[in-house]
Amino acid sequence: MARHGGKPAGASGAGDELLDVLVIGGSQAGLAIAWHLTRQHLRFVVLEAGPEPGHVWRSRWDSLTLFTPAQYDALPGMPFPGPPDTYPTKESVAGYLNAYAAEFDLPVRLNTRVTALIRTAEGFEARTDDGVFRARQVVVATGPFQVPYVPPAAQRLDSSVIQLHSAGYRNPEALPPGPVLVVGGGNSGFQIAEELAATRQVDLSIPPKRRCCRNGGRARTCSGGSLG
Ligand SMILES: Cc1cc2nc3c(=O)[nH]c(=O)nc-3n(C[C@H](O)[C@H](O)[C@H](O)COP(=O)(O)OP(=O)(O)OC[C@H]3O[C@@H](n4cnc5c(N)ncnc54)[C@H](O)[C@@H]3O)c2cc1C
Repeated sequence: MARHGGKPAGASGAGDELLDVLVIGGSQAGLAIAWHLTRQHLRFVVLEAGPEPGHVWRSRWDSLTLFTPAQYDALPGMPFPGPPDTYPTKESVAGYLNAYAAEFDLPVRLNTRVTALIRTAEGFEARTDDGVFRARQVVVATGPFQVPYVPPAAQRLDSSVIQLHSAGYRNPEALPPGPVLVVGGGNSGFQIAEELAATRQVDLSIPPKRRCCRNGGRARTCSGGSLG
């Protein structure tokens, strides 16, 4: 079960013990790897910086739904709840990840951010605020979306233009009244543009030849450099 500090069951905590594997990051990838390591009876621990598995999902905008239907959202060994061809909310993803860690009693050490990973003669040493962990092998599962990307052109906009990255967007009330340009036609751009288009004029800027996805809706789309 995921724990807030303390020594996880089935694996060693910080100290002199040399583990088989350290997993850094306790979200989808880290938990799925943990499930496989358990089945191989290896001694390991998952080090997770956040307060719960799946906390990154809770930090996203309020109305987020997955673009992958429920039948494709499961981790190994446990079906994702919900009928096929329905699109789960971010809260149900976070809930599922917590339930998954509990179901398989995975040794997840919460609130434990790895600040340095050092190669040693016997393997690796991971440093955290909660001590040092040593293992023969390490799996880094810290995810691909840690640093929001803001295109350089944004710096040239007048300071009167309010800018918000999707990582900081929560709901339409976060923006003052008036028209909005949503830049980026991935799933985030389409979902946010559709939500805003219910109450205001929205233009959605997408790269040339980008195909619309599931959530394409009321927002006007423009591509390439012509945003007018
Ligand atoms: C807005 C948005 C919507 C998305 N929608 C979908 C979707 O509908 N369907 C889909 O399949 N995918 C979707 N994705 C992609 C999906 O979120 C990622 O592919 C997936 O989360 C990757 O899982 P992960 O476990 O590798 O990383 P993450 O889920 O990012 O988890 C990484 C974990 O590592 C932890 N961590 C980071 N640094 C450290 C450290 N130094 N020490 C300890 N722990 C650390 C973090 O706290 C976090 O819990 C979406 C992504 C975004 C941004």
